[in-house]
Amino acid sequence: MPDELLQRLRSFHEHTFPGVQNQFQDLVREGQHPTILFIGCSDSRLVPYLLTGTGPGELFIVRNVGAFVPPHDGSPVSPQSLPDSPPRGQRVLAGYHGTAAAIEFAVLNLNVAHIVVCGHSHCGGIRALYEGVSPQATNLNAWLELGREATLPVQMSPEALRRTEQRAVVLQLERLMDYPMVRERVVAGTLALHGWHYVIEDGEVHVFDLKSGSFVPASNAEHSGTGPFRLHEIADDGHSIFNEIDSSYAGRGG
Ligand SMILES: [Zn+2]
Repeated sequence: MPDELLQRLRSFHEHTFPGVQNQFQDLVREGQHPTILFIGCSDSRLVPYLLTGTGPGELFIVRNVGAFVPPHDGSPVSPQSLPDSPPRGQRVLAGYHGTAAAIEFAVLNLNVAHIVVCGHSHCGGIRALYEGVSPQATNLNAWLELGREATLPVQMSPEALRRTEQRAVVLQLERLMDYPMVRERVVAGTLALHGWHYVIEDGEVHVFDLKSGSFVPASNAEHSGTGPFRLHEIADDGHSIFNEIDSSYAGRGG
């Protein structure tokens, strides 16, 4: 049986690499200086380089199920997931949080100017919030809690899934603002946050517009996401602007 993966590795080395060798060698000599942190779902149909027309050295990428952002302080997002845990803010749990580590590295070491959170249509992670997953998948079960708040109290339908996918993006942007190094830079105007929902079948990203609290197709959008923020758009008491927008957008009230 031919080893197809090995064939592909050889083909890259022999045929593809010579065409981009100089580019990669420059990137080794000068180091990487990506300006965009791309937080995307792991879905195989989401291809960040195609969407953004970028190449080697341009995107610092972290991907996970659902394009979720864990809390910076490591606290559980839902009380029921750890019944005896102390309230948020009373502890900091550093640990094996790969996505959180990537965010810290991208902001503190690479000084990225943009953070994109990119969800997508037909997301299996979002669907799993309604359908559940195998009890064997203990990590996945815990991970999905990062999107729980985005779910709607309705029967699952294509429309409900689409709205949940978009609400989940906003929820992650909100959680990003709890990262001190993110918040500082957003307030200073040196870091912009972008919320995207990629519609696979249309090949179009819908970008989150902070003013209208809605997702706008890129073909009609005036900007590529929520950012760049301006200082007056940040509420005095922290990240409440996201809560307000999310509430009005989602119709959650309060
Ligand atoms: Zn997905």
